[in-house]
Amino acid sequence: MALPAAVNKRRIVWSYAITVGAYHLIALLALIPWYFSWTGVVSAVLGMYVFGTLGINLCYHRLLTHRGLVCPKWLEHAFVVLAVCCMQDTPARWVAVHRRHHEHSDRQDDPHSPLVNFFWGHVGWMLAENRDLVRLGIFDRYAKDILRDPFYKRLERTLLYPSILFGSWAVFFASGFAADMLAGGSFSEALQFGASLLIWGVFVRTVAVWHITWSVNSAAHLWGYRNYETGDRSRNNWMVALITNGEGWHNNHHADTRSARHGHRWWELDVVYLSIRVLEMLGLARNVCRPDKTVAAGLAKTKRTR
Ligand SMILES: [Zn+2]
Ligand SMILES: [Zn+2]
Repeated sequence: MALPAAVNKRRIVWSYAITVGAYHLIALLALIPWYFSWTGVVSAVLGMYVFGTLGINLCYHRLLTHRGLVCPKWLEHAFVVLAVCCMQDTPARWVAVHRRHHEHSDRQDDPHSPLVNFFWGHVGWMLAENRDLVRLGIFDRYAKDILRDPFYKRLERTLLYPSILFGSWAVFFASGFAADMLAGGSFSEALQFGASLLIWGVFVRTVAVWHITWSVNSAAHLWGYRNYETGDRSRNNWMVALITNGEGWHNNHHADTRSARHGHRWWELDVVYLSIRVLEMLGLARNVCRPDKTVAAGLAKTKRTR
């Protein structure tokens, strides 16, 4: 498949290219023993759930993009702060690009179809200039509802976005440094512990969450099975579902975009949806969209004819 017509391959988006490259290089410091601590490893693994699953999958994707549930504003904003720490751009931009993906899935105007090639669908699409994705244009078309919220507007127009991001680096480093000092460690030991939390808890975690999110765009449009005859190449990919906590049931999602539940068969484990159920039971989520009955009838039919 050809690249979107609005893409100019020769014009690199340097801000993205440098950021993606730098994060990968810094994350490699984790291979040096001086930066290692088990607390750092645990903070990276827990962070993949807290920042990636709750921030990106639950909030940016199921809540803001598809309106599959409603949370109190304070909680929605708290989830957005977590998502901002994942360095996947602002809520308006993420939502707009993703809504465009659903509108043009696996056709030329899809911003990130892996039918161009795997690398393009995974990360390449972010690194080349695409006039279709210029902020004001896609905001007007796909993200007007998001920008009605003054907090999300501030993330576009002020230094709030980088402040949250760099603030999160400081929190990781300072909490490690202070905890070690309080436990009677020397200055150099505290420095080392703080650095291990920064490298593992921020950089390793961010790079891991990037590839996890990107695998939905790349692998889950190439490999896996289909429950539904959607007009695109979306697939249910169990490996992607496992690492994304449920986003890998991507063919189900394309068949029924509004549903907050992406796992449709009983064994299609969807931890994001289970987290939403917990929120619902605590009174922190309402209007949770379940799979549409007419869509589910399509699944039953597929089962019978198999
Ligand atoms: Zn998709
Ligand atoms: Zn979606």
